[in-house]
Amino acid sequence: MSYLVLARKFRPQNFDDVVGQEHITDILKKAIKANRVAHSYLFCGPRGIGKTSCARILAKTLNCEKGPADRPCDKCSACTEILKGNSFDVLEIDGASNRGIDEIRALRENVKFAPSYGKYKIYIVDEVHMLTAEAFNALLKTLEEPPPHVKFIFATTEPNKVPATIISRCQRFDFKRISSKTIVGVINEISKKENFKICEDAMYAIAKASAGSLRDALSVLDQISSISDKNVNVGDVYSMLGLVESELLFSMADALGRNDCVAVLKDLDDIIDKGKDLRQLLKDLLEHFRNLMIMKVGGVDLQKLVDYSGNIKERIYEQSKSFSLKDILRSIDMFIETQESARITESIRMSIEVAFAKLTYKGEDAGQASANVKAKDDKAEDKDGKAERKFSPAKIISNNRGYIDIEGSRPTSDTGDGIDTEAEFNEVPDAEDGGDVIDIEDDIAFNGPDLDIRSIVRIWDSLTYALSRRKMSAATYLQEGAPIIFTKNTLTVGFSNKHIFHKESLETKENIALVEEVFSEKLKTQIVIKYVSSDDKINEERKEDEEVKTAIDVFEGKIISRWHQE
Ligand SMILES: [Zn+2]
Repeated sequence: MSYLVLARKFRPQNFDDVVGQEHITDILKKAIKANRVAHSYLFCGPRGIGKTSCARILAKTLNCEKGPADRPCDKCSACTEILKGNSFDVLEIDGASNRGIDEIRALRENVKFAPSYGKYKIYIVDEVHMLTAEAFNALLKTLEEPPPHVKFIFATTEPNKVPATIISRCQRFDFKRISSKTIVGVINEISKKENFKICEDAMYAIAKASAGSLRDALSVLDQISSISDKNVNVGDVYSMLGLVESELLFSMADALGRNDCVAVLKDLDDIIDKGKDLRQLLKDLLEHFRNLMIMKVGGVDLQKLVDYSGNIKERIYEQSKSFSLKDILRSIDMFIETQESARITESIRMSIEVAFAKLTYKGEDAGQASANVKAKDDKAEDKDGKAERKFSPAKIISNNRGYIDIEGSRPTSDTGDGIDTEAEFNEVPDAEDGGDVIDIEDDIAFNGPDLDIRSIVRIWDSLTYALSRRKMSAATYLQEGAPIIFTKNTLTVGFSNKHIFHKESLETKENIALVEEVFSEKLKTQIVIKYVSSDDKINEERKEDEEVKTAIDVFEGKIISRWHQE
């Protein structure tokens, strides 16, 4: 007897069996009951979540001899033929393998003829976005004047590639990814029927790896059950999927929490010995710390946001207690940064090791740890152990007005007389007159004393770029803000309320020190940074404030919302 894969064996045969798509199946059932079935449907959504199954169920309900009914009988010849896939009236076309116009031409010829047995001729076109432009045009002609006995059901994973002319003639349904909890429910039910022994943690691991696709989850279950002799343990699942066991993630997080660099490096070595993919490890670590963050912030209230079995959730919650939120966010920050650097460095192992070292380094100069590590790389450490910052020397090209200047981007002939700041400011070539925008290499510097908010605004991109060379994540956060006030060497950077997370991430001691250091270096004067969040109601007194006025001036036509200090 040939083995029937689980996804086929347990394919839903009526709308009530379809899991996770009730928002669609309910409407379809009602439409059939009310005899208001559309001529053409477009089913959109990721793979393996029930689009084709729903198309076949819809075909059966329409052609069932006892129907149309919202539940096909599955016994009549119409139903059984559709079930076996050899109905003359229900034709499935795979858009991916039939991209040619010929198939659609044949389809057009065919639609003229009445159905052989059933009430309708039903065309199910899977991956419809793959059809060629000519095929779409041919299809469109039929869609414009569909014979009453014809129904179309199109399915696609990429609705954005389906021409608007087709979409507008269809009733569209967007299928959802299926939640891990629902997938675990299905795996559990099927495992009982098939006599698989599988623990809850293993089911969650499968659900997580399948990212909302029930078909993928069942195919993993297929493979696992065949290699594990119907007794599936979580280790088999992890090793088959190349995931890092949650035990190891807990152990690494524990070590990071204790600042135990040795232990976490040993764990890393274990993982490498097991042949795990280190990029996957980074993803898993990020997710683990994301889960710690969720539990730290929301505790039991937010536990449904964590895709794990109850007992692992409990452990995550317990582990979150040994971290401050700040440390969790710092770790997340560090892992994101490591993912970025892993893309450009040859040794991802080293990137991860450095990240662990930075996270566990708690010397008196902890805030500077990352700078020190970098300086060490550059062999620029002097004997005191104090790092000498190695910025490339910026080329200072100042004119006698104290303005920053950009090499090659403006004529330097004008040297002298009265200072018409407005004109001067506008004169700087930038995107508006098609000149080179600031070259964001190190070609920029400022000669200190005349520094004002306008000049900072002008070289803002260069400043954030300089920061990105030291810490990409900090620069990314900072780019969501805008410089708004500069007075007495204090630079105030504003963030809109929807970027509060970015603001708060920059407010860690480490990030404040880093931004101040980079900016001070670049602007040739000691800079203090302050972050504020926006509020639409800027009050009148503050509007009078000279600095704010300047800021508003500078940003005229540039920023939409206004800001005030907290
Ligand atoms: Zn039937």
